[in-house]
Amino acid sequence: MKNLFLLFLAVTVSQAMGQSLTYTIDVTQNTDTFQVFIDVRQELPKTTKVFQFAATAPGTYQTQNIGRFVSGFKALNKKGKEIKTTFMAPNQYEISKPHKVKSIHYQVAETFDTQVSSYPVYMMCGSSIENDHTLINAHTVMGYFQGNQSEPLKIKVIGNPEWMTGTALEQEGEYFLAESFDHAVDSPILSGNLTRAETKVADTPVRIFTYSEQGKFDSESLLTNMKDMLQASQKFLVKLPVDRYTFLYYFLPNPSGTTGAWEHSYSSEYVLGEQEPTEQYMKQVTDIASHEFFHIVTPLNIHSEIIESFNFVEPTPSEHLWLYEGVTEWASNILLYRGGVTSFDEYVKNSIAQKILVNENYFDKSRSLSELAARSFTQEGAKQYGNIYYKGSLVAGYLDIRLLELSNGTRGLREVMLELVDKYGKGNPFSEKTFFDDLVKMTYPEIGDFIHDYIQNSEPLPHQEYLNKIGLNYTREGMKIQIRKMVNPTDQQKMLLEVWSKNLAL
Ligand SMILES: [Zn+2]
Repeated sequence: MKNLFLLFLAVTVSQAMGQSLTYTIDVTQNTDTFQVFIDVRQELPKTTKVFQFAATAPGTYQTQNIGRFVSGFKALNKKGKEIKTTFMAPNQYEISKPHKVKSIHYQVAETFDTQVSSYPVYMMCGSSIENDHTLINAHTVMGYFQGNQSEPLKIKVIGNPEWMTGTALEQEGEYFLAESFDHAVDSPILSGNLTRAETKVADTPVRIFTYSEQGKFDSESLLTNMKDMLQASQKFLVKLPVDRYTFLYYFLPNPSGTTGAWEHSYSSEYVLGEQEPTEQYMKQVTDIASHEFFHIVTPLNIHSEIIESFNFVEPTPSEHLWLYEGVTEWASNILLYRGGVTSFDEYVKNSIAQKILVNENYFDKSRSLSELAARSFTQEGAKQYGNIYYKGSLVAGYLDIRLLELSNGTRGLREVMLELVDKYGKGNPFSEKTFFDDLVKMTYPEIGDFIHDYIQNSEPLPHQEYLNKIGLNYTREGMKIQIRKMVNPTDQQKMLLEVWSKNLAL
């Protein structure tokens, strides 16, 4: 009995230790390439034959094939001798004797300064090294042994010891701790000559780290501009679903690719052009931050099983992109209006009229939101993907109006979203297949028709009909759209406009 107990204990301890793969990422050797070293402490099973690099990453809806950036891949045994490995395009290395592996070594080129002929990686999802900083989005630098995606790991970054580091990861001495490969990917690391600022929203600490190549932006002024947005978000959500949050900003004057921002569970990463910080530009920056911050609701808390157990090997679309990105864009705009940060005129101009024009003039407006989702990982689909922020947001706005109408002004899309957070939440995905039906059951049969017409199919958007429901006049001459409050609305229209304009009390 005693022996068995000891044996059991010993096994548990060695397993726990073995699970901790340590990744050392050296950015001091040169300014284009990460040198990566993985210490394999416990013998890998003979079946762990594949070392995988990411084909895509959660929330990017983009094919990235990180295997393209990797070179010099080597597996070594305990004597330091090389074990045979074979590259299997696009993202895998097959290891002939995995049980003999003591360490893995490779170089991976930064995405910012590496030219590719197809599938360029969005900058906010990419990686960079220069003399004064590094940006590490883990899926662009690290890979994992297939079968080990959910094992804990440690990351050590060898950079300039003077650098400041921003990340949502916990730190233990010189190591960043991740519960899994997914967790590492969910937690970018920005290190370098940064500025830092901190505040609290209700009880939630919010930290900002900023790298600004020309020094035009700093964390304090970004925070000053974001404070009203953070308060408005908190009012909209009632209670923030996170206990801490980190904004990582990266500004550069001549971006080499697509800039923007990428959401994570406890942080978001922004790569933006370093223009003059005018009032208008700061407003745009805050609008983007509002969008990313709202992602803590969806997809991070409300998503299907396709997002929950993420497939880094094979890009797999979820039909509910309309929810993850369309509803998020709508919410991040209307919460600023309802919170008094933007005016009625600004809201209808930028978040309705402008979005109608972009949907019609820059994109194929006949493509449904479900199709946008289904094709986002293809080269052709990637060109239409951006419409999710325009058409997707408009559809979410009309869904809100329809819900307010059907509930007689008591329950709009915000209230339904908050119910969904309660019903699902972290670790409890909804069903990819039945979610539309479940949503109809939670709401009204008419919502089934709405989903059919405007999400799954592409009926012309009912701008006039829906805006009239809430007492707004919609007029249009060519590229000129005007949306104004009616002079003599009915009692019903007056009531709906009032509940549409504010957060309902809960
Ligand atoms: Zn988004």
